[in-house]
Amino acid sequence: MSLVSTDQSSALVSTDQLFVHKLRDIYYAEKQIVKSLPEMIEKANNPQLKQGFQTHLRESENHVKRLDQVFGLLGKKTQGVDCPAIDGIIEEAEEVAGEVQNKSVLDAALIAAAQAVEHYEMMRYGTLVAWAKQLGRNDAATLLNQTLDEEKATDKKLTEMAESQINRKGGLTRPRRRYVSDRANPGAA
Ligand code: FE
Ligand code: FE
Repeated sequence: MSLVSTDQSSALVSTDQLFVHKLRDIYYAEKQIVKSLPEMIEKANNPQLKQGFQTHLRESENHVKRLDQVFGLLGKKTQGVDCPAIDGIIEEAEEVAGEVQNKSVLDAALIAAAQAVEHYEMMRYGTLVAWAKQLGRNDAATLLNQTLDEEKATDKKLTEMAESQINRKGGLTRPRRRYVSDRANPGAA
């Protein structure tokens, strides 16, 4: 089944194919995110961050279901295609988290990694909502937009947590400690 009526231009038919391809790309990404979040929950030290990841795991499971609904609306088979971008973002997050010992620094690394994921999703869903509208599929656009709103809200919460963490800890550069060591070594910069 085509997403667009047959009297429309071939350019639109190709956007139709691109749209389905990118839906499969984000479907794969969401499933990888659902797989990686339990480890983030496990590693998070701040209870608020842990809770935030738990909430977003439930939301992400729902994002997978919503995409399944979108495929259904379009009469397309629900399936993923490899998405090297999300694989890279998750791989890098795991690498960095594995190297950090300090708990608050680990939380900062987890927040940064999670924000990279949310920004990737916001970028993809933003495009998909616009394409769905262009293709006259407001039903799909509405569902995709619900997910987009949840990704944006998550990103905002992560920004707030990052800011409050930096305020609480005096920043990642630990200026107080440097001050003490500067006094101990008056010649140091
Ligand atoms: Fe998501
Ligand atoms: Fe997300």
